[in-house]
Amino acid sequence: MSNSIVHILNNDCPHCLKGKVFNEKNIFLNIGFPKMNQYCSNCQFKFEKEPGYFFGAMYVNYGLTVAQGIATYAVAQFFFTENFDLRIIPIIAVVIIAMSSFNIRFSRLLWIYMFKNYSI
Ligand SMILES: [Zn+2]
Repeated sequence: MSNSIVHILNNDCPHCLKGKVFNEKNIFLNIGFPKMNQYCSNCQFKFEKEPGYFFGAMYVNYGLTVAQGIATYAVAQFFFTENFDLRIIPIIAVVIIAMSSFNIRFSRLLWIYMFKNYSI
């Protein structure tokens, strides 16, 4: 399990663990929509198994975004005297926007790894 997380964060192919899912070498620091490989360059594993395969990754992305929003609130509340200070909302928005590019890649990688053992 912990090994899978390392491979997910390394952008590795779920089948051979050598090829890359996304063209970018670093999935953390990228701006813009991800450029995803259709097949693994090493083992020809097809990442998008069917049209709309990554529709479910949208829900993973939503969960990640909500978790990051809650975590940002939990950290930011220590810097304000009031419990529900409205100035925290723009901070949460900035964090969510900054993390959105990473979340797209990370949620798709999580989705691929969740269903890597089911072949169509
Ligand atoms: Zn592969």
